[in-house]
Amino acid sequence: MQANISEQPGLYLHIPFCEQKCAYCDFYSLTELSLRDRFVDALCREIQLSKQNSIPGAAFDTIYFGGGTPSLLSAEQISKILETLHSTFTISQQAEITLEANPGTMEQQMYGDFFAAGVNRLSLGVQSFNDDELRFLGRIHDAAQARSALRRARQAGFSNCSLDLIFALPGQTLPSWKKNMEEAFAFTPEHISAYNLIFEPGTPFYNRLQSGQIQGQPEQNEIDFWNMTLDVMDSNGYEAYEVSNFARSAAFYSRHNIKYWLHVPYLGFGPSAHSFHKNRRWSNVRSLHRYLADLEQEKLPVDFEERLDASTLEFEHILLRLRMYAGLHLREFERKFGVSFLEKYKSEINGFLNRNLAETINGYFKLTRKGMLICDEILQDFYRP
Ligand code: SF4
Repeated sequence: MQANISEQPGLYLHIPFCEQKCAYCDFYSLTELSLRDRFVDALCREIQLSKQNSIPGAAFDTIYFGGGTPSLLSAEQISKILETLHSTFTISQQAEITLEANPGTMEQQMYGDFFAAGVNRLSLGVQSFNDDELRFLGRIHDAAQARSALRRARQAGFSNCSLDLIFALPGQTLPSWKKNMEEAFAFTPEHISAYNLIFEPGTPFYNRLQSGQIQGQPEQNEIDFWNMTLDVMDSNGYEAYEVSNFARSAAFYSRHNIKYWLHVPYLGFGPSAHSFHKNRRWSNVRSLHRYLADLEQEKLPVDFEERLDASTLEFEHILLRLRMYAGLHLREFERKFGVSFLEKYKSEINGFLNRNLAETINGYFKLTRKGMLICDEILQDFYRP
């Protein structure tokens, strides 16, 4: 089966609304839902004003509605945004069009409406099938809503669905996590993202951790969760292709997210959205109010821009490739950076090979399962400021 990898650029839309903030989340979003119409107008204006940033000769082959909670927009609003994208950029006819949906915001007819609007991949933020865990996370939906979301997505015609799950919650047991995965498999989603709970600074969970109100899982437990995740996914036919991402086959890898992991260009719209092209990376203001004010004065809301130098691009290339199970392609590295990866990082690499943290196979350098467990630590050793 052909891997879902392409060098064509992608488009990302950040929809900055949530019905209520989850206690662990640090994505940019507000609960001021009354601003949705103004936001959609501003977003369409931003897309039109960004025509100059389009990548010459390129046809975009992914569109990703992320957030926030894109399913808080109506199908009409999603259609309006898609029409604006189509009239501004060249979009491939086979584009993967993903919408992140929260089961708690989806009325029955919305599945069909989004499908009819052109969305062909639904990413459902399930997180857990256990009501106690969902309440603890601050989610607005319960397990019954998560189950019916999956059934309704299928009935509406979605043949490419992804589920998000979170594991290693405080107090969660391995059997409880296994049960969550098994519930997910029962719906045979094409793709599953399984994230280890992270206590991000600035979130309510982080503050509760600091004040001792909650305790994270001990390190050994996190390793056990991780190993179980890989074993159970594998025995149920889900291939691990990135640190937190699993697919029923290579055809169902997230074509859009792979662009981030392979340094393929993408344009992002909406507050806090990032863009990347060649060695340039830029991002929008992380404030809906400033975003609206800028666009209502016909001004692009960019507030950060950087040019990545050769050594940063090289480090990022290593970092992104080694988070993928396929690993780093040695000939591609040499072609891009004019130096042999194995020669340049000889001493680090030998250390990893000797400790069974990495291996070289068929022209690729990749981390072993043991290496993936301490992936962030390993990657720092490649940093040469
Ligand atoms: S619904 Fe999603 S984006 Fe919104 S607060 Fe919860 S996790 Fe974050």
